[in-house]
Amino acid sequence: MKREPFLLREPSYQTWNDVFSNPRPITVETFVTGESIISKEGSFNLAHPNAAAIKDVPPKIRVPVLAHWLRHREFGDYLIDAGLDSSYQKRRRGRCRGILAGFVMGNIFQEKGQDIASRLKDKHVTLKGIFFTHLHFDHIAGAADLPRDASIHYIAGKNEPYLDIQKGILFRSGEWLKGVDPLYEIDCSEGVDMPLLGKSVDIFGDGSLWAVSTPGHSVGHLSFLVNSDKGPVFITGDACFFDRSLENGIGPGKYSGNMEEAQQTLERIVEFARKYPQVKRIYGHEKP
Ligand SMILES: [Zn+2]
Repeated sequence: MKREPFLLREPSYQTWNDVFSNPRPITVETFVTGESIISKEGSFNLAHPNAAAIKDVPPKIRVPVLAHWLRHREFGDYLIDAGLDSSYQKRRRGRCRGILAGFVMGNIFQEKGQDIASRLKDKHVTLKGIFFTHLHFDHIAGAADLPRDASIHYIAGKNEPYLDIQKGILFRSGEWLKGVDPLYEIDCSEGVDMPLLGKSVDIFGDGSLWAVSTPGHSVGHLSFLVNSDKGPVFITGDACFFDRSLENGIGPGKYSGNMEEAQQTLERIVEFARKYPQVKRIYGHEKP
């Protein structure tokens, strides 16, 4: 998959207070595209000193797989993450193949019409682009059912790894991003420092949508601030899996590439949430 830099615009503001004082004509609606079973140790750092506070959480957790529809009344319709494609209605392993595919993919539950393509059709959405928080399957699978029209841009964080296993008989992944060319990469280090979240990119240059670098769970992980005229919303992605992650200051667990960095990122999000309680938060795997 070819990668190209996402073209950065001049940022409209330099502080979140200025951003929030100037809400923009953008709205966000979250879809549950299915559910999956994930592990407690994958989603919570159980070595954290506060881990006792979540001892009631069972070892396996059934969670929603989310996608977020953005409508900017000037610039059109976008997604943050793609959730799941419709293949899970027929097969537990979705589009994955190989004799271990069912085992590797675990349990995914999806009802008819929950998949992202059906959701967008229901809403009569003509998509202009998808921003990915990161490229793990439960955030990109839905892209397999979406058009590869040149007018639809696929966008992730810089150096975000994408693992597409196609060799062997044991397991082959779902080719969810097949035909995406190029994948645009947002380089937050070229953005503006927005305390307390750090380097951020003003996507449209009007202060409506900000990509924030939140590495750790994955190398190029992004979170997104939607400066909606219905109130600001922070979409954390898997930088913060659950409300209880934020509440107890416990970073993501073993599903993360770098748990130490993921913990530091989570702590920035906790501080941001304390300073700006007016910002609604949507977590990686919690129904908003
Ligand atoms: Zn996830």
